[in-house]
Amino acid sequence: MLTVDEVYERLLAVAPRVLESEILPLAQCDNRVLAEDVIADLDVPPHDNSAMDGYAVRSADITACGTRLRVSQRIPAGSMGTELEPGTAARIFTGAPVPPGADAVVMQEDTAADGDYVVINIVPPPGESVRKRGEDISAGKPILRAGHHLRPQELGLAASIGVAELTVFRRLRVATFSTGDELVLPGKPLGPGQIYNSNRYTMFGLLARMGCEVVDLGVVEDTLEATKAALTEAAAKADLILTSGGVSVGEEDHLKPAVESLGSLDLWRIAMKPGKPLAYGSVNGTPFIGLPGNPVSVFATFLLFARPFLRTMMGIERALPEAIRVEAGFDWPKPGKRQEYLRARLRRGGDGHAIATLYPHQGSGVLTSTVWADGLVIVPIGETVAIGDRVQYLPFGDLL
Ligand code: AMP
Ligand code: MG
Repeated sequence: MLTVDEVYERLLAVAPRVLESEILPLAQCDNRVLAEDVIADLDVPPHDNSAMDGYAVRSADITACGTRLRVSQRIPAGSMGTELEPGTAARIFTGAPVPPGADAVVMQEDTAADGDYVVINIVPPPGESVRKRGEDISAGKPILRAGHHLRPQELGLAASIGVAELTVFRRLRVATFSTGDELVLPGKPLGPGQIYNSNRYTMFGLLARMGCEVVDLGVVEDTLEATKAALTEAAAKADLILTSGGVSVGEEDHLKPAVESLGSLDLWRIAMKPGKPLAYGSVNGTPFIGLPGNPVSVFATFLLFARPFLRTMMGIERALPEAIRVEAGFDWPKPGKRQEYLRARLRRGGDGHAIATLYPHQGSGVLTSTVWADGLVIVPIGETVAIGDRVQYLPFGDLL
């Protein structure tokens, strides 16, 4: 059996980069991966500006509380003031450029207006309530690097330097199909011995969340010829072939011989639970990942293995899931031979720290556990857990 880390090493070493890129309007770039560095060609903010509604002053003019100054100009956001006359104040609004000569802004709440004059009720230090030119971004510096996964805040940052479009890698195409004569699509009646095909929908959602295009090859008839035909079509149309089921040891299934006849296949037994069997191979040069069949195993092995593989293909640097440490609110007294990924939820302790509790039924077919849970507690091989111990936790929020 391989450890989870050994599987990571093998998978990430062979994941092929997809380097084709496209230029997209900024508004369409969320959840894409940058293909080129973005360099700022201006300072942000472009000028010293006011952080408050109030009065721009020369701080040296105000030596005591209660100083009275004439208001010599008015500067709303979007307009430029003129050099501030010594011994006067400029009425100024949030975001407006601080006029030359002024070095501080006194917020309105610390003043009293008095006709054409204003009384300043504090002694402002130099720089008070002034946002300095270039304090966010300075011209000439890269603000985003190639390989950066774009979220709403990156789009905002790019817009702040006036960039209207970005060069991003094209979306990955992932071909999926299901095999298994027991499977029926939702919406059809269930015959004797049949179950509904749930993995198909779990996988659709997981792939869509990652920004992949799904090439849906449906349900493939359980013959060697049909399986080979589906794999050949998948290899021609996609960057990755992803299937579920039919990779258990001793499985009478056509997936294994079909992949082997068109390329190569390794069947891995991974020391993890849920999970264990995982197939990796290639079909006509296109990588193939065969997830196990059990619905919880599909969900877990996708997040743990298929997702980092796809992220590596996309050029994202931190491809692997990163666990956080939380307190165990449960006992796990029996050391296991496989690393456990327990469906868990966080609750808050008295002082607000996170305590993990477990779903009572951890079977690999129990999909309700994945719906109840907010993440996975990791229990390494041979370890036990007692209430109050620290455990590793993978929040679904980081993975979906
Ligand atoms: P297998 O690896 O094909 O032996 O499948 C292991 C278990 O997962 C069996 O109970 C299958 O019925 C079930 N299974 C396989 N594929 C699916 C699917 N697409 N949806 C729901 N359950 C599945
Ligand atoms: Mg099967």
